[in-house]
Amino acid sequence: GIRLAGHGLVKRFGATTALAGVDVDLADGEALAVTGPSGSGKSTLLHCLAGITSADEGAVLLRGEDVSRLSERGRSLLRRKHFGFVFQFGQLLAELPAQENVALPAMLLGASRKDATRQARQWLGSLGLAGMETRRPGELSGGQAQRVAVARALITRPDVVFADEPTGALDQATGAEVMKVLVEATRAAGASLVVVTHDENVAAWCGRRIEVRDGRVVGAAR
Ligand code: ADP
Ligand code: ADP
Repeated sequence: GIRLAGHGLVKRFGATTALAGVDVDLADGEALAVTGPSGSGKSTLLHCLAGITSADEGAVLLRGEDVSRLSERGRSLLRRKHFGFVFQFGQLLAELPAQENVALPAMLLGASRKDATRQARQWLGSLGLAGMETRRPGELSGGQAQRVAVARALITRPDVVFADEPTGALDQATGAEVMKVLVEATRAAGASLVVVTHDENVAAWCGRRIEVRDGRVVGAAR
């Protein structure tokens, strides 16, 4: 079925129309790449679908339920419960060990520190980071730090993981490793995936892609 959909999404910033009426569907378990040049509206589309901002027009449907008119607080709860996020390098809290970075979203949903930490250590182990649990982000390589970010995105068992240029700060080989972990771990967790990228090599990891230009979808491919 369709897990997440955007219908007729319009978003303006003053005189700039960032999204000019975008329709997009995300199926259960699907990995979708959103490509296009800088400034085309990719991040704005991700922000609207993920409830980070609300669109001026259109609807966002999560399993058929319109979540586009929620309050700020409602969107915040929606994000915590249903979505996971992987952004460009540098998003982890620098003062916290890897396992505490990963445990945090689970604790925000009500898990005890003990349970959350145990789950975090399991996720880190399954993503190839056994032995790194107590390192701080600055003591990890860029690729390791992004795998910690993947663990943090998945610990709450989200419906959808959103990744905005997840390999933007990595070299090609490390970026490919991170994409492999992101795509495979997300699939194994039963989540769908949206990856915003300007990089063809990154998009190639996703089962389907749409191309955005000037706030419109101008192409789609498998
Ligand atoms: P992309 O992710 O493809 O680089 P964005 O979605 O970030 O594109 O931006 C699309 C357009 O909207 C651009 O013209 C950008 O300058 C504008 N824009 C995005 N966010 C804001 C904002 N918070 N305030 C003003 N303009 C914005
Ligand atoms: P494994 O052998 O562990 O299952 P693979 O290397 O076969 O992993 O990759 C898993 C998935 O990722 C496959 O669907 C494959 O087509 C895809 N894949 C592998 N390498 C790349 C690549 N460089 N670019 C895009 N997709 C890739």
